Amino acid sequence: MSSQKIFLNGKLVDKSEAKISVFDHGLLYGDGIFEGIRAYNGRIFRFDEHIKRLYESAKAIMLDIPMTPKEMEEAVVETIRANELTDAYVRLVVSRGVGDLGLDPRKCDTPTIIIIASDITLYPEEFYQNGLDVVTVPTRRNIPEAINPRIKSLNYLNNILAKIEANHAGVLEAIMLNNEGYVAECTGDNIFIIKDGVLITPPTYIGALKGIKRGVVLEVAPELGLEVKEEVFTRHDVFTADECFLTGTAAEVIPVVKVDGRVIADGKPGEYTGKLIKKFRELTQTTGTPIYDK
Ligand code: PMP
Repeated sequence: MSSQKIFLNGKLVDKSEAKISVFDHGLLYGDGIFEGIRAYNGRIFRFDEHIKRLYESAKAIMLDIPMTPKEMEEAVVETIRANELTDAYVRLVVSRGVGDLGLDPRKCDTPTIIIIASDITLYPEEFYQNGLDVVTVPTRRNIPEAINPRIKSLNYLNNILAKIEANHAGVLEAIMLNNEGYVAECTGDNIFIIKDGVLITPPTYIGALKGIKRGVVLEVAPELGLEVKEEVFTRHDVFTADECFLTGTAAEVIPVVKVDGRVIADGKPGEYTGKLIKKFRELTQTTGTPIYDK
């Protein structure tokens, strides 16, 4: 098999040649932004929304990406094509670029742009069938007044600490609360509960990423007869919910059946969750931006 091709600063290079400077501020300070994008069946799912969020994150950290959104879309398509993928996970990274050892971003002339198109590592199917066991961890989601979680920044240490705490508890995901103790999101996923036919997810202003898959679920849920609310809730609401699930580009829609040792409802993935998984999979297989027949 030919080697993986990586888009690096305007060129497609072999994986072994895809190297960046040790003075890159993405590495030295986490100064940069990223996106995780999925392609299914030869189409890129919700492509324009991901690109829009990338440029919004860039705006928030005052990073001028030296490519237009259209050029960025073309570069992503080109990278997937170069790797001959039809199903892919695409990681798009824009860092502040190479500077000196000081913090000052004015020392960084040109942003570093990296696009990696790779195969996907999924949660095993058994978790979609049986649901996840998760815990709430001590590390809180950072407050919007610090690094706003709506910025998909390279600064993920906060979430990594939460992930380490999940690892110690022997589970795959962690619920992170915001500073006031409300449920915010997970380390790499948004969270939803369903109670008495009402679907609830935390509003992003309390400190959560405005996930693209979160948006898909909010869009399709009314078709399934669910009332939809963006409202704060607590661990107690999760423990006593009828259903709970997570959404994210990697996780898609995945049921949660146990939280902090409390079994959710009867301990099986909920009926609406099952319907949402089905609907989500239909959408990913049938919609999106074509990669090859443009
Ligand atoms: N929250 C966090 C912290 C994330 O990193 C992600 C993305 N993996 C999500 C939520 C889900 O966002 P999306 O649906 O856009 O992948």
